[in-house]
Amino acid sequence: MVRLHTPDPSGGPTLDVSVLRTVIAMQHELAAVGLDLKAVMQRIADRTRELTGGTAAAVRLLDGDALVCGATSGAREIAKPHRLPLGNNLSGHAMRSGRSLLCVDVEDDDRVDAALSRSRGVRSIIAVPLLHGGQAVGVLLLYGEEAGAFGERDVTMMELLSVVLSGAMAHAAEFEAKRDQVQALARFEATFANALTGMVLLDLDGRILDANPAIQRLLTYTHGELAGNRLSQFVFPADRRKTRSAYLRMVSSGGTSLRMHHRFVGREEVIWVDSSASLVHDSEGRPSFAIAMIQDITQHKEAEAALLSQAALNQHQALHDALTGLANRTLFNDRIGHAVNPRRRTDTRCAIAVVDLDGFKEINDSLGHAAGDELLVELSRRLESALRTSDTVARLGGDEFGILLPEIRTRADVLHAVDRMRAAIEEPVALQGLSLSLEASIGIALYPDDGEDVETLLRCADAAMYHAKDEKSGSAFYDASQIRHGTPRVTLMGELRRALDRQELILYYQPKAVLLDGAVHAVEALLRWQHPSRGLVGPDEFIPMAQQTGLIKPLTLYVIDAALRQCQAWLADGLRLAIAVNLSARNLVDGDFPDQVAGLLERWEIEPDLLEFEITESAMLTDPGRTRLILERLSSMGIRLSIDDFGTGYSSLAYLKRLPVNEIKVDRSFVMNMDEDEDDATIVRSTIDLGRNLGLDVVAEGVENEQVWERLRSLGCTAAQGYYLSRPVPASELQAWLEQRRVAVARRVAVARATQGRS
Ligand code: C2E
Ligand code: CA
Ligand code: CA
Repeated sequence: MVRLHTPDPSGGPTLDVSVLRTVIAMQHELAAVGLDLKAVMQRIADRTRELTGGTAAAVRLLDGDALVCGATSGAREIAKPHRLPLGNNLSGHAMRSGRSLLCVDVEDDDRVDAALSRSRGVRSIIAVPLLHGGQAVGVLLLYGEEAGAFGERDVTMMELLSVVLSGAMAHAAEFEAKRDQVQALARFEATFANALTGMVLLDLDGRILDANPAIQRLLTYTHGELAGNRLSQFVFPADRRKTRSAYLRMVSSGGTSLRMHHRFVGREEVIWVDSSASLVHDSEGRPSFAIAMIQDITQHKEAEAALLSQAALNQHQALHDALTGLANRTLFNDRIGHAVNPRRRTDTRCAIAVVDLDGFKEINDSLGHAAGDELLVELSRRLESALRTSDTVARLGGDEFGILLPEIRTRADVLHAVDRMRAAIEEPVALQGLSLSLEASIGIALYPDDGEDVETLLRCADAAMYHAKDEKSGSAFYDASQIRHGTPRVTLMGELRRALDRQELILYYQPKAVLLDGAVHAVEALLRWQHPSRGLVGPDEFIPMAQQTGLIKPLTLYVIDAALRQCQAWLADGLRLAIAVNLSARNLVDGDFPDQVAGLLERWEIEPDLLEFEITESAMLTDPGRTRLILERLSSMGIRLSIDDFGTGYSSLAYLKRLPVNEIKVDRSFVMNMDEDEDDATIVRSTIDLGRNLGLDVVAEGVENEQVWERLRSLGCTAAQGYYLSRPVPASELQAWLEQRRVAVARRVAVARATQGRS
C-alpha cells in the first residue's frame, strides 16, 4: 500500500546498495524491538537523523486535523513534541498530496512558514507522508540547519524508512485489534466458566450450543445432557410457549434482547428464574447466536408468595371475627354500604337484622369461656347454613350477630328468614354433656323504609332488637312510633370510642373512711362521661356496653392511668391516698394486664400499695383458673384486692379462701336499709364476721345515714363508704372536703378536750 516516491528517471540519485543494506538492517532491528509501535517510531526517527546527518527528525501522526508527535530525535527545540495544526506547511502539503517533499531553503519556498522555521533555526526540511491503506496517517520529518543540507538521496532513504515504519504501524494496529478480540474472548470464557449466573449460548432456533457450570448446577443436568437440546425443553410446560415465542420473535424481528420471569424444570425441582437473552450479530449485522443469562429467583418468588398470602390473611383477619370466622363489624357495615348504594337498582329492598342471644351470659359464666366459645361457633355455623349465600352473617361482638338480607321484596320474605334463624338458634346444642336450648331477640330494619344509610339502619335494627327483648316477643320490625327514643347503643358505642380519645371520660372520687376514727386513707375512682351534648353520663349507661365489646380493656387502662396521675398529684400536695379502681371480667382473663399495670405504676412512680382493685364476684367466676393466676400476679406485685358487691354473687367460701384478697365490700343493697330491714342487717353482720374469720377488711358501701354508720361501727366493720360521708366528687372537691374535715375533726377534738378539762 505504500507508494514510493517515484525516482526521477532523468538521472536523479538512484538507490544505492548501501541504502538498501541500511534499510534491511533496520528491519532486523525493528523485528528485535517487536510490535511496540512507540519504540519503532523512536528507532525510525533516530535512524533518519543518523543516516542523513540532519539536525533533528520526527515522526508525527495525524490526530483529527492536527499532527501529534510520535517520536523526536535530535534537537528537541526544532522537532518540538507538541500538537501542530495541519496547515500551510510542508507537512500539510506532503500529507495532502501523498508525496514526499524536499525544501532546500525555507527562505524561498512558499510551502513553508519561513518565519517559524527561522525562529527554530531551520533552513531545510524533508517531509515524507506515512501511508496506510492509501491514506496519509502521519509524516516523517527531517530538519537541517543549513540551506541545501539534503538531497534526493536523503528523500529516498526516508521513503524506505517510512515504508518500514508504515508496515510496522499496520502490523501493530492489526495486532492491537486482534489482541482486543482475543482478550475479550478470554474474558468471556472466564466469565462464562466462573459466573454464578447461569449462562447459555443458543443458536437462532434456541438450541443450546454451550452451557456454563452455573446453569448445570442450577438445573442439575450435565453439559452433555444440555448441549444440543432446545432450552425450551427444560422450561416449565406452562411457561414454554411464552418463552419460546418471545425468543423466536426476538430473532426474527432482529431485536437485541428480551427478559422475563419463568420457571425451569430441573432434574429435581421447579426453579423460578429471571432470564434475559441478547442476540449477537456478525460483522455484516446478521444475527448469529444468542447469550442467555439465567438467575435463580426461587427464594425471592417464594418470599413474594409468602408475603402475598400473608397480606391476604391480614386482610381476612381485619375483616373477620377470629373466633367464628364470620364477617366482623367493619365488613358488615361495608356490605350494608354496598347494598344500600343508591346507584344500585332500586326495585329491591334489603333488611338488616341484629340478633342478640338471650341467656348467653349465664351459660358463659357457669360453664366457662371455652364452652361459650364453642356455642358461638356452632350457632354461627347454623346461622350461615340457614341463610342464602348472598346473605351476610356477621358477629358484631359478644353474643350479638348482624344479618344482612340484601334482596327481599316483602316483609314476609324477611319473616321466613327470621323463622329459619330462630329455628337454627333454638335447636338444642350439646355442650359438656348438657343439651342446651337458646333463644334470641331479633330486631329488623328495612331499607329504604327505615333509613337510607348504614348508621341509621343499624340504629333502627338495634332499637328493634331491644324492643323485642323487652317485650319478649322474639323478633320485631323497627317501628318509629313504638320504640322509645333514647340514644341508641350503636351510636353511643361509637361515641364512647371517640370519648376515650378526646378525654371526655373523667374520674370522680368517693372516700372510704375507717369507722373507728373516721380517717380517710383511701378513695374509690368512679368513671363519668362528660358527654358533649348529654351532659354527665353515669357508668351504668356505658360500662356494661364497653364490657360486651373489647373497649373495656383500653377503658380500664385509661382509668388506672388517670387514677395514678391523680395519686401522684396528691402526693405532691402532701396527701397520701390509696385509690381503688373497678375491674371487669375481661381484665381478669387478660394475661397482658398485670404487665400493663406494672408499666403504669412505674410511669407515675407510685408504690403498688396505693393502688387497689375492686372486683365483683361474678367477674372472678368467668374463668376461675385464669383469673386466679392473674389475681396472684397482681397481689404479688403489692396491689390490694377487694371483692366488690359482696353478697350478690355466689362465691363459694372455699374458692374465696384460696384467693389473695385483702378486703370484701358488702353490697350497698344490704347496707342501705340495714337500719330498717333485719334480714339485711343479719346478712351484713354475718359478712363482717366472715371477713374477720378470714382475716379480711370489711368495707360497707351505701352508708346513707348516721344510724347505719354507728351500727356498722358497733359490729366491728372496718370501713364505710356512702353518701352519708360524701358523694363521689371531682378530685379538687374531694381535696377541699378533706381539708374541711381535718379542721372540723381538730375542732371537735379541741372541744372534747376542753369539756373533759372542765368536768
Ligand atoms: P360500684 O363499684 O358498686 O360503685 C359504687 C356505686 O355506688 C357508685 O355508683 C356510687 O356512686 C354508688 N354509691 C356510693 N355511695 C352510695 C350511697 O350511699 N347510696 C347509693 N344509693 N349509692 C351509692 P356509680 O358511680 O354510678 O357507679 C356504678 C357502677 O359503675 C360501679 O358500681 C361500678 O361497678 C361501675 N364503675 C364505675 N366506674 C367504673 C370503672 O372505672 N370501671 C369499671 N369496670 N366499672 C366502673
Ligand atoms: Ca366498686
Ligand atoms: Ca359496689
